[in-house]
Amino acid sequence: MSQSVCILGVTGSIGQSTLKILQLHPEEYSVFAVTAHSRIVELVEICKQFRPKIAVVPLQKVDELRQLLIANQLSEIEILHDEAGLIAAAEHPNVDVVMAAIVGAAGLLPTLAAAKAGKRVLLANKEALVMSGDIMIQTARENNALLLPVDSEHNAIFQCLPQNYLQENRNGQPKMGVKQILLTASGGPFLHHSLEQLQSVTPAQACKHPNWSMGQKISVDSATLMNKGLELIEACHLFAVEEQFVTVVVHPQSIIHSMVQYVDGSTLAQMGNPDMCTPIAHALAWPERIQTHVPPLDLFLHSQLNFEEPDTVRFPALKLARQAMKAGGLAPTILNAANEIAVAAFLTEQIGFTQIPQVVEHTLGQVENAAAVSIDVILQADHTARIVAEKAVLNLGS
Ligand code: NDP
Ligand code: MG
Repeated sequence: MSQSVCILGVTGSIGQSTLKILQLHPEEYSVFAVTAHSRIVELVEICKQFRPKIAVVPLQKVDELRQLLIANQLSEIEILHDEAGLIAAAEHPNVDVVMAAIVGAAGLLPTLAAAKAGKRVLLANKEALVMSGDIMIQTARENNALLLPVDSEHNAIFQCLPQNYLQENRNGQPKMGVKQILLTASGGPFLHHSLEQLQSVTPAQACKHPNWSMGQKISVDSATLMNKGLELIEACHLFAVEEQFVTVVVHPQSIIHSMVQYVDGSTLAQMGNPDMCTPIAHALAWPERIQTHVPPLDLFLHSQLNFEEPDTVRFPALKLARQAMKAGGLAPTILNAANEIAVAAFLTEQIGFTQIPQVVEHTLGQVENAAAVSIDVILQADHTARIVAEKAVLNLGS
């Protein structure tokens, strides 16, 4: 039977790749709900092509969307708005699969709603899991939701782990013969820049990733290695291991998407051309496999695969994320919130590239850590951290 899909963040890079896959399999999947934030014209184009039943936008965009839908004879599409609309779309009884591809903390409550409603949740929005950690995992478990990683590294790790690994007891130790997870990192566009060179890189340079084409925020995160830090935290939650069992390996070609090492000396890797359509298709169809347009890997074209240790002196964000995971509680939420503010400030040229981790470190030092006992407590910490980080941005800018 055809699966009905809700795409949170349909106008983004992951949203677009998701549509590419769905388009290849019209018999198996239909688009039920789509959401956008600023790109309304693009949203209408998507509505024309995929004919969803529901579209969600911010309240101030509702009129613009309504007019465009009417002009395109699409007035039957129901328009919902704001966070309540995102949640209603994610938990809608007609929806089977939710692609969580909103960027940042804005995706937390809709993603959590999808988990609560027992959906198949394709998780791209790593910030939501970094913030909510155990609560997201528990919510998914208690409601029989299937939380499947779309982040290419986590999808690779999932593919390399034993079957049923996620159903086993969760106590922070690797199990079923797993020794450690090797999380690969491309190293981003500034892998071999000196500290001095890093001080003057521009937003345009930071957003030009050598291997992947992605949204602006994750592109900057890839350049600072905060993306790998967030992914380290994401891996700990998804695969129920403490941070010392996740080793980051810089692999500039992005052909191996991550690895799992076993106690018998085996190391399993998942490889492929760097294209998000592969992990998206995997998460959509798991445990089956479906066709994509991604060309098969030509190993003769990639005769060299290199590996190196990350440099946390030039890229302190990775160290900050590891420390936050170790500290636990609200520290990952504070880290994430400060990073969102710092990245936005870098993109608008209020602060320099090397000041991004400074804002994060400062905020982690200022906002009190405590147990992350509820979503309300997490949202409060997120709010406080943003205020502290914004002040730090102002101080650095003046
Ligand atoms: P984009 O910036 O390309 O897209 C983000 C999407 O979220 C857009 O649809 C955007 O709407 C929407 N959005 C932005 N802000 C809000 C808000 N406040 N409320 C509701 N919706 C909002 O990002 P990506 O697609 O690159 O990334 C999405 C997520 O997936 C991120 O968490 C990222 O870390 C993760 N990810 C991305 C990968 C990639 O290759 N791109 C790889 C692995 C993970 P609009 O465009 O209309 O403004
Ligand atoms: Mg990734």
